[in-house]
Amino acid sequence: MCKEVVNKLTGEIHFISSPKLLRSLEEHNAICSNSYVASQVPQRNGIACPECGEELYDTNPNMTLTSMVPKKVTHCVCGYTGYRNC
Ligand SMILES: [Zn+2]
Repeated sequence: MCKEVVNKLTGEIHFISSPKLLRSLEEHNAICSNSYVASQVPQRNGIACPECGEELYDTNPNMTLTSMVPKKVTHCVCGYTGYRNC
């Protein structure tokens, strides 16, 4: 069974077949905001601190600096802070 949907902006007519099993926009946004909050927690990145040799953390894993080359802010338990290439 087809359903006719008219695009409110363009007036284009689309014929949509049987209902799809899709999540709602609210469900999607809730999932994304939860993963965004989790990604705000500093994450170990497998790179040795240049000052003490301990593993560095990505300070804000969800943030990438749009430099050329893109970079992430890193820090260490010893107090070192710096950047790593992505
Ligand atoms: Zn260190």
